[in-house]
Amino acid sequence: MSKLPSPISRLLHHRTQGLKKGDPVSLPIMASSTFVLAGDPDGSHFYGRNGNPTIEEVEAEIGILEGGEAVLFPSGMAAIASVFFGYLRPGDTVLVHSDGYYNVRALLDTQFVPIGVKVRTCPTADMITADMTGCRLVMIETPSNPGLAVCDIAKVAERAKAAGALLVADNTTATPIGQQPLDLGADLVVMADTKAMAGHSDVLAGHVASRDSALLKPVRTWRRLAGAIVSPFDAYLLHRGMATLELRLSRANANAMAAAEALRAHPAVSAVNYPGLTNDPSHEVAKRQMRGFGPIVSFTLANRKTAEKFIENNPLIVAATSFGGVHTSAECRIRWGDDVPEGFIRLACGIEPTDDLVSSLTRTLDSLG
Ligand SMILES: *Cc1c(COP(=O)(O)O)cnc(C)c1O
Repeated sequence: MSKLPSPISRLLHHRTQGLKKGDPVSLPIMASSTFVLAGDPDGSHFYGRNGNPTIEEVEAEIGILEGGEAVLFPSGMAAIASVFFGYLRPGDTVLVHSDGYYNVRALLDTQFVPIGVKVRTCPTADMITADMTGCRLVMIETPSNPGLAVCDIAKVAERAKAAGALLVADNTTATPIGQQPLDLGADLVVMADTKAMAGHSDVLAGHVASRDSALLKPVRTWRRLAGAIVSPFDAYLLHRGMATLELRLSRANANAMAAAEALRAHPAVSAVNYPGLTNDPSHEVAKRQMRGFGPIVSFTLANRKTAEKFIENNPLIVAATSFGGVHTSAECRIRWGDDVPEGFIRLACGIEPTDDLVSSLTRTLDSLG
């Protein structure tokens, strides 16, 4: 009985601990922009841009999963923007993944390059040998999207530290259940909670987390001044989704593993990327730093037409972008201009029973002719 409860148990019971007779068991949505404030401010709630009890409860729950402190945002990009706007100044250099989430580079190119911030890029797989000299921030995304390349977070953290740079890790694909970048030496974690954390394709949200409160200060200041505040209704949806995060992810990860194996064995498939496959170039590092290999598999069919037909014909696949939801979804990434073959598909596994999903994939591939 001396064993400490896991983060999931602590998350589930974080609020219930303090409840009194007659209190609601579920989290109340405090839909109030203003709070009673007579006399001088004294640290209590007074205005929604500065603080809201529903949002703060959800931040505390995310903090339990991260083993740190978390600041919530209305989207993953707002969370990432808070780090860039909080930290980058003219003359600074930032090193960022060249093969991860595209909008991160677009934000830097649009808002920061014109004011004199220098941007260097590097493929995820090469981050451990990248030149970090003179960098203010280094940003990694592992596994990267959509190619699912992996880098050794602990090694990258060591090198970033030696170079005097802060390491920011986008942990959207793995989630804190699958990987703990803060344990491995990252200074800040950013996440799109829109994906698996909320998990039902019904809300946009994001967060920044750290073990060092001081590092979150510029992030909090930017949030307050720029007004990037999540709505308490959306914070509630995230809270509700996180309660089942571990359950959903264990099914989705098992589905992805089984799907990757079935795809690899099928003659219509020319390549499969999944860190869980023992012959994948990312497997050794992923095995060391991840628990489960995530819900996304990417693979390549003969051409775009075949790939579109596969997505359209499979009854258990929704043709949609994004991932981390309860339904399996897929898309041809060439439509976004990614540097991938024509027939490259990103398959985002949902929580369907594994046998159903795998047999639907195999049947659809068989029918392509
Ligand atoms: C979706 C995503 C984001 C952006 O999140 P939004 O909530 O859409 O703003 C950032 N990073 C990664 C890896 C993502 O998948």
